Amino acid sequence: MGVDDQNLGVLIIGAGAAGLCMAAQLELAGRSDFVVLEKSDGVGGTWRDNSYPDSGCDVPSHLYSFSFAPNPRWSRKWAKQPEILEYFESLPQRFGFADRIRFGVEVTEATWSEDECCWTVRTTDDSTLRAKVLVNGLGQLNVPHVPDIVGLETFEGVRFHSARWNHDHDLAGERVGVIGVGASAIQFVPPVARQAGHLTLFQRTPNYVVPKPDREFRAWELAAFSHLPALRRAYRWWTYWRLESKFNLMRRDSALGRLLQKRVDQELSKLADDRLPREVLVPDYPPGCRRLLISNDWYPTLLRENVTVTDSGVERITPDGVVTADGVLHELDTLIFGTGFATTEFLTPLKITGAGGVDLNEAWSDGAVAYLGLSVPRFPNMFILYGPNTNLGHNSILFMIEQQVSYVLAALEQLERRGARAIDVTSGAQQRWDAEIRERSASTVWAGDCSSWYKTADGRITNNWVGHTTEYRRRLHTPDWGDWRFQR
Ligand code: NAP
Repeated sequence: MGVDDQNLGVLIIGAGAAGLCMAAQLELAGRSDFVVLEKSDGVGGTWRDNSYPDSGCDVPSHLYSFSFAPNPRWSRKWAKQPEILEYFESLPQRFGFADRIRFGVEVTEATWSEDECCWTVRTTDDSTLRAKVLVNGLGQLNVPHVPDIVGLETFEGVRFHSARWNHDHDLAGERVGVIGVGASAIQFVPPVARQAGHLTLFQRTPNYVVPKPDREFRAWELAAFSHLPALRRAYRWWTYWRLESKFNLMRRDSALGRLLQKRVDQELSKLADDRLPREVLVPDYPPGCRRLLISNDWYPTLLRENVTVTDSGVERITPDGVVTADGVLHELDTLIFGTGFATTEFLTPLKITGAGGVDLNEAWSDGAVAYLGLSVPRFPNMFILYGPNTNLGHNSILFMIEQQVSYVLAALEQLERRGARAIDVTSGAQQRWDAEIRERSASTVWAGDCSSWYKTADGRITNNWVGHTTEYRRRLHTPDWGDWRFQR
C-alpha cells in the first residue's frame, strides 16, 4: 500500500532493531500510515554493520530477540552475527511492513512546524516528507569512532574500522595491528590472530573477560523450543532473571563486584610473566565499571607466540606502522580500529530543530538527557528509541526497546483519545528525571574511576539506565500523562 509522503502518521528513522520493533508494533496495532527510512540498503542496523569475523551477541539469543517475535530455531545459546542479522531481516516479511521501508534514504534534518503541527524531514536524495510523529531509531552504536591520531592519514598499509570490515582484504600472513580491546576486538582478534603472521594489540585499558558457556542446541532442545512454546517462554524468562540478578554488580562497591575482582586478580596473576605483565592483564577498576566481556579464547590468544600486547600508548602513526610512547615503531601491513563508537553524541549528525527553533544538539551540549530516555521538551511528537540512559550493562537492550515502543503506542493513543495534535514532555518532568538520573548514577559502579563509553569526557553518565529493567518496565507501563502537555 502506498503512503502519502506529505501526510504520514509516523516516520521512523533507521531500520535497525529499534526501528523494526516500532514498525512491527505499528503494523500489529493496525496502523499503516508509516514509513521507515533507512540509509543503507538493508535492515539490521548494528548487526548489518558489524560483520567482522566471529561477530556475535553477548546476550543469549532467546532473550536477544523480541518477545512478540520468538525464534525457536536459534542454533546455539549465543548466536553469531549472520544468524542474528537473518532474524532481523525476517521481521519485515513476518509482520507485513516490508513495503514501508525505503532503503538508501538518509535523513539529514528534521524540523518541527508549529503551524502545521508536524515534522518536516529532509533526506540526502533531496526529498521532503511530512509526518505527525517522528521516531528516532538510530541507537547508540551507529557512528564508528576512529581516534584522531597524529599521522593517521599517512599510513600506507590497509586500515579499517571493525564496524566497516574490509572483507576483500586477506590478512593471511600479514603484520596486523589492532587498536582497542573492547567488546568488538575480543571477538575478532582471536580469528585474526589465527590468520595473521603477527598481531600487535595496542591496549590502553584491560577489561574483565569471563568465560562464555556457549554451545550449539541439541536436536531435542530445538524440537522442544519449536513444539512446546511454553517451555521456550520459560527458558527465555529464566535467562532474563538470571541476567537481571547481575544488576547488583552495577552498584558501587558491591560485595559481588569485590568477590569477582579478587577472583579475576588471582586467576590472571597466575598467567602473568615478562611478556604479559600483571598490569596488562588485570584491570585496576571494579568489574562492571566498563562492559564485562565474555570469551573463551581471549587469554589463549594473548598467549600465542605470534601475538604481542603493548600498553605503551599509541603516540603516532607513520607510513610504516604505529609508534608507541616508548618510541618503538611497530611495522604493520594492516591496521584495524576496534575503537568503538561515538556513543555520547546521540542522534548526530542529524540536525533536529524543535519548537521555537531549538536545536537538539545545542539543547544537549552538556550531555544528552531525555525523559524516560524517550522524549525532550520542545520536541513535540518526537520519540527516541534506545535513547539517553537506556543502555544496559547486564541485560538485553531489546527488552528496553520493547517497553519504549509500547510507551510510544500508548502516547499515540492518548493523542487521539484527547483530540490533541501534539504531545510534549514538560520541562518540570524533564528536570525531575535529570536530577533523579544524576543522583542515582552516582551510586553505580560506572561512576567509579574508569573511562567508558557510558559517560561523557567530564564523567556524566548519559548512556546507561540506572536501575533494574523491571523498574524501567513498570514506569513505562504506568505512564503519568501529567508529565506531558497535550496541544489541541
Ligand atoms: P569499546 O568497548 O568502546 O572499545 C573501544 C576500545 O578502543 C577500547 O579498548 C578503547 O580503549 C580503545 N580506544 C579508543 N580510542 C583509543 C585510542 N585513541 N588509543 C588507544 N585505544 C583507544 O568499543 P567496541 O569494542 O566496539 O564495543 C562497543 C560496544 O558495542 C560494546 O560495549 C557493546 O555494547 C557493543 N558490542 C556488543 C557486542 C555484543 O556482543 N553484544 C559485540 C561488540 C560490540 P579504552 O578502554 O582505554 O578507552
